[in-house]
Amino acid sequence: MTAAASPARLRLAVGGVVQGVGFRPFVHRLATELGLAGWVANSPQGVLLEVEGPRGVVEAFARRLRAERPPQSVITSCEATWLDATGRNGFVIRPSDPAGAATALVLPDIATCRECRRELFDPANRRFRYPFINCTHCGPRFSLLEALPYDRPNTTMRGFRLCAECRAEYENPRDRRFHAQPNACPRCGPRLELWDAGGAALFGGDDALRAAAQALRRGRIVAVKGVGGFHLMVDARNAAAVARLRERKRRGAKPFAVLFPDLAAVRGVCEVSELEARLLESPEAPIVLLARRPETVSAGIADAVAPGNPNLGVLLPSNPLHLLLLAELGFPVVATSGNLSDEPLCTDEREALARLCGIADLWLVHDRPIARPVDDSIVRVMLDRELVLRRARGYAPLPVRVTSDGWRVAGDEVGHMAQPVTPHSSPATILAVGAHLKNTVALAVGENAFLSQHLGDLETEPAHAAFRRAAADLPRLYAATPEIVVADSHPDYLSTRLAEELAARDGGPRLVRVQHHLAHALACLAENEVALPALGVAWDGTGYGEDGTIWGGEFFRVTPSSVERVASLRSFPLPGGDAAAREPRRAALGLLQEAAGTGVEWAVPLQPVVGRWFAAREAAWVRAALARGVNAPRCSSMGRLFDAVAALLGLRGRNEFEGQAAMELEFAAAGIGAVDGYELPLVAGPSVPVLDWEPVLRGLAADQATRVPVGVRAARFHEALAAAVVTVARATGENRVALSGGCFQNRRLTERTVARLRGAGIAVYWHQRVPPNDGGVALGQVVAARRSGLMSPITVIL
Ligand SMILES: [Zn+2]
Ligand SMILES: [Zn+2]
Repeated sequence: MTAAASPARLRLAVGGVVQGVGFRPFVHRLATELGLAGWVANSPQGVLLEVEGPRGVVEAFARRLRAERPPQSVITSCEATWLDATGRNGFVIRPSDPAGAATALVLPDIATCRECRRELFDPANRRFRYPFINCTHCGPRFSLLEALPYDRPNTTMRGFRLCAECRAEYENPRDRRFHAQPNACPRCGPRLELWDAGGAALFGGDDALRAAAQALRRGRIVAVKGVGGFHLMVDARNAAAVARLRERKRRGAKPFAVLFPDLAAVRGVCEVSELEARLLESPEAPIVLLARRPETVSAGIADAVAPGNPNLGVLLPSNPLHLLLLAELGFPVVATSGNLSDEPLCTDEREALARLCGIADLWLVHDRPIARPVDDSIVRVMLDRELVLRRARGYAPLPVRVTSDGWRVAGDEVGHMAQPVTPHSSPATILAVGAHLKNTVALAVGENAFLSQHLGDLETEPAHAAFRRAAADLPRLYAATPEIVVADSHPDYLSTRLAEELAARDGGPRLVRVQHHLAHALACLAENEVALPALGVAWDGTGYGEDGTIWGGEFFRVTPSSVERVASLRSFPLPGGDAAAREPRRAALGLLQEAAGTGVEWAVPLQPVVGRWFAAREAAWVRAALARGVNAPRCSSMGRLFDAVAALLGLRGRNEFEGQAAMELEFAAAGIGAVDGYELPLVAGPSVPVLDWEPVLRGLAADQATRVPVGVRAARFHEALAAAVVTVARATGENRVALSGGCFQNRRLTERTVARLRGAGIAVYWHQRVPPNDGGVALGQVVAARRSGLMSPITVIL
């Protein structure tokens, strides 16, 4: 069967003006016309629907849903989840679920709608060139909300008194701005100013915008206050200016995102598929990772924007200020988070003046306060589907459904769960505090898990403060009192510490600790509503294991009543511990040392490569420490194996940003066709069977000796990993496999693994709305807590 003809089920959570406008009958007509089965129902978010049939027809439905929607309807968000087909027939309009409606809903920030865009550039309109134009169909929500209900006095617009005209719109039920809480105009609303480094206003209003544009044309760095925080902007074509920003921001080689004036300009630099174009222009308006067109790698965009990177993070203007600025400029600008690397986004102009001092030359600010930082979201299209890598503006805090036992399988009708929890018990309210890097928090109330925006790495004091605010913010917004607080089992994470503090309070929530990689696997299983039993694969950097070692290459068998670690990557020492995450050369040395212990000499061809990354005395010193076992914790981390191989291929000895070496290993393999993988057999291990990487080293050494191109060796490594997942699935007898962890941000790894599993007749699932990286851990923690009664106490410590 071709992919387009294979059965598929698509769930769409549609937000916006979709109730009372004939949307459900329209969905019914369209689905029936296309011969699709499924259902549609009103939900607190708008409309929830499922269609099922041949994949190609389901895709056509999704396209036509947007194109042919009723004229009065407005779609402000649309989140898709692909699920297993149930084999149901017929299409029905379901009655609304009154229970769900009780949860007050907070909407994300939405890109400027078509009507507002037209008015913005209409000289006859009273909001012509007004950078804060919005209506009930678009504009800021989450970033200006301070409390529920969502009324103007509960937003940061509270300080602006509506003028007579704006008030008339606000009070007229037939007006597009009826109860548009951020409604404003040049007479009564927020206003722009351009500041110098001393905070002195140089220009106001439209003059400020034009002067900022002029500064950007001249290669200056401008801090621009947007919807959820500050961006730092600079002319993306100007190599010297981009280099200056990179140096001032202490950014290393980490790629910058680029804001383009329009889709046509993007197409000049990148390959853009139909789905990618749709995502760029969607109300969520995320950064989309696109492949650069080879012939234009150096044309138009300065090399320093994304050095050595075949991809580019691209976004389109999604708020009136960006629309005006980019229309003025007509060329792409770097638009990177307004912060020092690893710190959270600046939201307040006074704070921005202090924290971005020495980075920006000018500050384009306004007086609409931002209630909480909301970064740009990042998505990537993988296997013809959207994959959210960073969930923030446009998505947060939309909920993901989490039932009382985690997830419901294959629709409501067909239950595969062996032990359904009592259907009418109201599940406990849960606060999950996430991991350490790429932190997010989640609040589960009833069957909704509200996921916070991306909060960043909890390495710096400002990031830690932002995290603590968010962990207090979500329960306060939803007036929820968590009965359970879930943390990573790592005792030293700052997130874990907060959970312990909360639990220690009088009448505080009960503390549940969840192993990091189990949380990853459960997040993926739950998001895809996978029938159990299934195999969860969690491959990422490092996480606290339960045997005193660092985990990161783990396989879990999850059944309705248990969870068990069934396989792992063979462990190896990491000289320098945490330093190894920044220095792939250390993982390489650890691998070689471990192999040398077996008396094999084949690693010799690899020695000079390691010599390249270490001074002779330094290597001897690290080896001596390794031999004594000093500061060399053992790990089974797939991320560190990627690092080691990248170093052994001569690609990189030190990372300038997290995951850089692994990314370069992926890029090295780009364009290489089908190859044979290295051997990566499953052998007996100390506790569970392990994937033995030693033959991989042997293969790398042999290929090094015969000068096989680096790209081919990188491809053979990826192929080995893809095949290894099939090996473990076969060995454990599982025919459903879920892929999670940061390693599966790697497109080649994911695509090859999916292809191999499918080739072996095994159903495979990967992330969609929730990031595979640590941004998805909070959801997994919620799911683990919901299932804790069903799982072994070894992995969930109550
Ligand atoms: Zn609008
Ligand atoms: Zn007004």
